[in-house]
Amino acid sequence: MDYQKILKDIHQEIQPYATIGKQADYIPALAKINPNQFGMCIRTIQDETFIHGEAATGFSIQSISKVFSLAMCLSLEGDNLWKRVGKEPSGTAFNSLVQLEVEKGIPRNPFINAGAIVMTDILLNHLKHPEEEYLRFVRSISGNDGIGYNEEVALSERKNGYLNAAIANLLKYHHNIDNDIERVLRFYFLQCSIEMSCYDLSKAFLPFANHKQAFAFENITLTSSQVKRINAIMQTCGFYDEAGEFSYLVGLPGKSGVGGGIAAVYPLRYSVAVWSPRLNRKGNSVMGIKALELLTTQTQESIF
Ligand code: GLU
Repeated sequence: MDYQKILKDIHQEIQPYATIGKQADYIPALAKINPNQFGMCIRTIQDETFIHGEAATGFSIQSISKVFSLAMCLSLEGDNLWKRVGKEPSGTAFNSLVQLEVEKGIPRNPFINAGAIVMTDILLNHLKHPEEEYLRFVRSISGNDGIGYNEEVALSERKNGYLNAAIANLLKYHHNIDNDIERVLRFYFLQCSIEMSCYDLSKAFLPFANHKQAFAFENITLTSSQVKRINAIMQTCGFYDEAGEFSYLVGLPGKSGVGGGIAAVYPLRYSVAVWSPRLNRKGNSVMGIKALELLTTQTQESIF
């Protein structure tokens, strides 16, 4: 498969979408990003890499970090995790409070904010140096020691993070947060602020594509079955209340973030990351979704 040519063709074909949508601005530091950027990177399980556009530019991974948090929580907590968070698609926005009230403080899944805030609490219970250990895991799975938190983005989000603070308070009220709320939110926002490029993300997601190989990074290990289950949750819950549409159009497990990034996997074949900051109304990258739709359509490679 000539992925290099496919990437180039895709970029050309999506030009009509280049000015649709706008970057996330509810986090002021993200509003400053130049929205007219596009990068994409495919990495096969043979470790061949195909890059196009601004694939080496770092961006805020935001909710893509929730996949790393889930990998860590499943490794550290095993199936006990599912006592505190569900695994059903939410059908509501990533920052919705509604279901949390109805379901008495048990978030629908780990990939909405409420679920990730609970996972952050779990990580705080397990880790001695949470921020350092989290970063060590992400650096190890990406093979890039230069990856770090963007404190400015984290602080900017904290200052305006009224909704996430409300979610954390509701979770605490329902006894699904053990630690101090401020402590949990600080760590949560730092996870979201991590900056990675499409190149880094494709590398970090390759172990999720390659579930037949041992998953062991720092002290985080997963069985093949656990990796496949993470993919299942990406498939059903990875795109906020657009998970059905993404599954329909693209047909790959993946996770998006409001920084405009999407990482996805074609199990036992490749991982792919795409980034373009302009988002649709559901918070997903307009060009990112279109590019992935074209990728699986042109290659005839999707999980279905
Ligand atoms: N840090 C963002 C928030 O909590 C993440 C949102 C996202 O990427 O879905 O609102």
